[in-house]
Parts: sequence; structure tokens; C-alpha cells
Amino acid sequence: MEMAKTLMVNAYCRNRLSFSAIPKSSKSKFSFSKAMASGSSFCPPVPTQFRCRPISSFPISSQYLVSFKCFSAKASSSTPKDELPACIGFLGLGIMGSPMAQNLIKAGCDVTVWNRTKSKCDPVISLGAKYKSSPEEVAASCDVTFAMLADPDSAVEVACGNHGAAGGMSPGKGYVDISTVDVATSTLISSRMKSTGALYLEAPVSGSKKPAEDGQLIFLTAGDKSLYETAAPLLDIMGKSRFYLGDVGNGAAMKLVVNMIMGSMMASFSEGLLLSEKVGLDPSVLVEVISQGAISSPMYSMKGPSMVQSLYPTAFPLKHQQKDLRLALGLAESVSQPTPIAAAANELYKVAKSRGLSNQDFSAVIEALKVKLEQEK
Ligand code: NAP
Repeated sequence: MEMAKTLMVNAYCRNRLSFSAIPKSSKSKFSFSKAMASGSSFCPPVPTQFRCRPISSFPISSQYLVSFKCFSAKASSSTPKDELPACIGFLGLGIMGSPMAQNLIKAGCDVTVWNRTKSKCDPVISLGAKYKSSPEEVAASCDVTFAMLADPDSAVEVACGNHGAAGGMSPGKGYVDISTVDVATSTLISSRMKSTGALYLEAPVSGSKKPAEDGQLIFLTAGDKSLYETAAPLLDIMGKSRFYLGDVGNGAAMKLVVNMIMGSMMASFSEGLLLSEKVGLDPSVLVEVISQGAISSPMYSMKGPSMVQSLYPTAFPLKHQQKDLRLALGLAESVSQPTPIAAAANELYKVAKSRGLSNQDFSAVIEALKVKLEQEK
């Protein structure tokens, strides 16, 4: 599996399709629809120009250029090792960071790690990673350092705090923050990194625990284009596609929009499961019915069967989904965009958190509705 993935790494050169100001009709149906599905055409200019504008008036310029790459199973050549940054740092080895770092190691990269809770470094150290005792030391010893932290506070702390990564950065190095944070946080970290002469790329990911393990994540990148190009082979080890969205903030905004939709979808799905049960239907059959129609979603098919059994094995912690909704609502407010569905969904996740479900999978949001319905009896 690892060998196959390693062999695929260099395929990005040949398989990458670029989208710029090309009329819709001139693009292949397959590739254009993929780009559109990711919302690349309506990403607002961030961080400084948050203003209401009709979606149709958003410019399609090189700033919004999207690089879309998909791996081909037929790819047969490997990335020459000297094309990869010599030493890669990885900060934050949680549900996502650990398998991502492991995939880099398995692909033959020289990886140095740090995590606040040191014991979580053990699995990657046993695979061959080096360990340093602070983000600063990791950044100082590496060419490109990735950070996968819980939220804006931890991302800033690890990047800019005492013995933070910025202390180890200098010209020629790069910092790639793959945490899900808001535009202001990413902009702050970018400024700090760039003040050292280093390059900065934000690259939050779409995809969860399993795609992280399988190297199938989707990277939503923005920032220094040259760092994007340097990091591309590494992103291709950890992911199946990557989008370059222009200025810092666009990747963060895209990720928040995606997760805002996801959070609302899960809340709506939860309501449907419970309603079906209350009117005497089998919710497992509802999951099956949905899977065969136009509203089918891998998320429903994956999470539905365990939700029916009130089981929520954590892939995406509920506390992170609520954080993303909170940040997305802030983004919407900054441009006076009404988002009543997401706002309602956010309330449900807040209830679920208050019921002690923060560390369960976000599908546990259904429990908040069970509580509500019981109270209404
Ligand atoms: P996680 O398992 O909760 O891991 C969070 C990481 O952040 C851990 O390494 C944790 O260190 C570290 N951390 C938290 N607070 C810290 C602090 N104050 N100082 C230093 N380190 C701190 O979360 P995850 O699921 O891997 O998610 C990581 C990021 O990816 C989040 O922004 C999340 O929204 C995003 N994301 C997650 C998924 C998913 O499905 N899980 C998918 C896409 C994006 P400790 O080990 O010491 O606690």
C-alpha cells in the first residue's frame, strides 16, 4: 500500500489540472464539476475585503487559481527523493496528525515530531521519527514544518508562543498550518512566520480519520505559492487532491464553509433518523433509502448505521465540529451573510457539548435532539 502510494507521488506533475479564468464550457466536464463541487468559484477575498457581493460577481482571476490533482492508479514513477524537502517537522499528533505523519515516514521522509502530550509521539517514533522537545526545536531542525492543532488558540500557541515554531524559523524554511482555524488566526500566524523571513502556507484538510490514514485527504491551501510548490509532493503523500486558493485566509474560509455545510447536514440527518423512528419506521431502512437517492452521501452511509445504535466512535470530535460552526458563523457575520440553518445547527452542537459529548464523534449531536424530545414529552 505504502509502496503504491510512494509510486503515485510524482503523478501530480503529469495529472495536475489547473483552473484559472477558463470559461466553464472549455473545461472537461469531470474536472470542472470537481472544482465547482469544492466551491472554488465563490471564495470571498479575505482577509481584508469582507464585503457583501453577489456570488456571480466574484472575480475569476489568477488569485483564485485552483490546482486540482488526482492520483491515477496507473501512475508508475516515484518522486526522486532529492525533490522532497530534506527534513520535515510535524507538530500535533492527534487523530489527524498522527496518521498523516506516519504516512510521511512510510513514504521515506525524514520526519521530526513534537506533541504537547509526549506519549502520543511514541507510535511515530517507533516508525522512525525523530523527537524534539519544543516546536521551536522542530522548526529549527527542519526545512518544512507542518502543524495540526486543535483550534485557533493552540495553533497560535504552538506557532507564536514561548518556544513556539516561529522561534526556529528563518529564511529558506516553510511553515504549513493544516489546522482548521479562522482567517484572522491564519493571518496572524502568517505575519509572525513571515517576520522571520520564512514562508507560510495554510492548508486545512477536508477528510477525516480514515482518509488521513489512507492518504486520501483534500488540501485547501493558500499563501506562499513557492511553499505550495515545495510542499506539493508531501501533500500528495498525505492526500488525494489539493487546491491552491490564493491569498492567506482563502483556505481557512473554504474549510469553514465546507464544515459549516457538513455540520448542518449531520444535524438534519439526526432529525430525520429520530423522526423516522418516532413514526414507527426503521431508521436503518431510512439510511438505506437515502444511500440510493440523490441526497446520498458517504457521510450518511458511514455514520448512519452506528448512529442508529447510539454509537459514536470518534473520527471527528464533536467539539471540533462546534468550533468550526462557531468560526463559520463569525465568517458569515463578517460579510453580513445570513446562515440561519448553520446557526440552528450550532445550538444543537452546543447542547451536545454541555451533555459531555465533546470528545465523541460529531454524529453524537443526535443525542442533543433525543434530550430535547424527551423534555417535550
Ligand atoms: P485532536 O485529536 O483533538 O488533536 C488535537 C491536537 O492539538 C493534539 O495534538 C493536541 O495535543 C493539540 N493541542 C490541543 N491544544 C493544545 C495546546 N494548547 N498546545 C499544544 N497542542 C495542543 O484533533 P484532530 O481531530 O486531530 O484535529 C486537528 C485539527 O484538524 C483540528 O483543527 C480539526 O478541526 C481539524 N480536522 C479534523 C478532522 C477530523 O476528522 N478529526 C478532519 C479535518 C480537520 P495533545 O495530544 O497534547 O492533546
